[in-house]
Amino acid sequence: MLLFKKVEQLQQHLNTVRNDLRTIGFVPTMGALHQGHLSLIAEAAKQCDHVVCSIFVNPAQFNDNADLASYPRIPEKDIEALCNTSCDALLYPEVDEVYPKGWTSDAPTDFGYLTKTMEAVHRPGHFEGVAKVVKRLLDIVQPDKLFMGQKDFQQCAIVSEMVRMLELPVEVVCCPTIREKDGLAMSSRNLLLSEQEREKAPALFKSLLLARDLMDRLPVPEIEQKAMELQKIAGFQPEYFSIVDGHSLQAVSDPQQHDYIVACTAAKLGKVRLIDNLILRREFGGIKDS
Ligand code: AMP
Repeated sequence: MLLFKKVEQLQQHLNTVRNDLRTIGFVPTMGALHQGHLSLIAEAAKQCDHVVCSIFVNPAQFNDNADLASYPRIPEKDIEALCNTSCDALLYPEVDEVYPKGWTSDAPTDFGYLTKTMEAVHRPGHFEGVAKVVKRLLDIVQPDKLFMGQKDFQQCAIVSEMVRMLELPVEVVCCPTIREKDGLAMSSRNLLLSEQEREKAPALFKSLLLARDLMDRLPVPEIEQKAMELQKIAGFQPEYFSIVDGHSLQAVSDPQQHDYIVACTAAKLGKVRLIDNLILRREFGGIKDS
């Protein structure tokens, strides 16, 4: 695997890849890599000739300085992990390589309702920062396909919308969530959980499974209530539990009216904020939760 700290050097390398008519798959990350990230790299290698990964803890998407400071950073371990995958090139830049002095972002900031609900409400400015970094990284790498995780469902929806709005020549591939054996969605933030919190953490996924079980039996607001009660009993402080249309992210009131329904949740366990989601109904092609 080739390691690039400078944007220009990666671009020179990618020019040779493109000259050979090889397709490029791109997996942007913030590091502290786990099997979820590695599954994206494996999928990119299946679908593309050349796989580029980036590790960049993007300050622009953190609305809380303490959260940015405590975000796990394990560069040596990450590089070692990537060397055992099909990743061909890693971009590991400093902040001023991604955001040089005088550079201004041309990424959209308003994605309609997609940026007016759930994560957007609880983390103001977060998706502005996500769109900024993804647009910048897409401009740098110019991949054929961009691989992202369903774990960040709203992020996938917003990035797909940005690609559509700007008519960017890239296909967004949203890959299934990889979980620990006990159901906890893999996340870099899991490293921040104490031993006791880690034991309680699978309740987040259990609340999503409860919602799926109750789906055809109770009105949606009651399901959301019961799911948050389960989280509270397990020691979480729920921020939201929303059963939404998977296309528009609008609240679902009559499930019969929707062909794509997703339960999305965010909750805090001590100081650590976790998010997860589960597809409750998907009656058209694409990924499905088992
Ligand atoms: P992050 O490093 O958290 O910004 O994540 C980088 C990419 O990995 C994003 O597209 C995430 O959605 C994806 N990702 C994070 N966790 C998982 C997981 N458990 N399974 C699959 N993809 C994931």
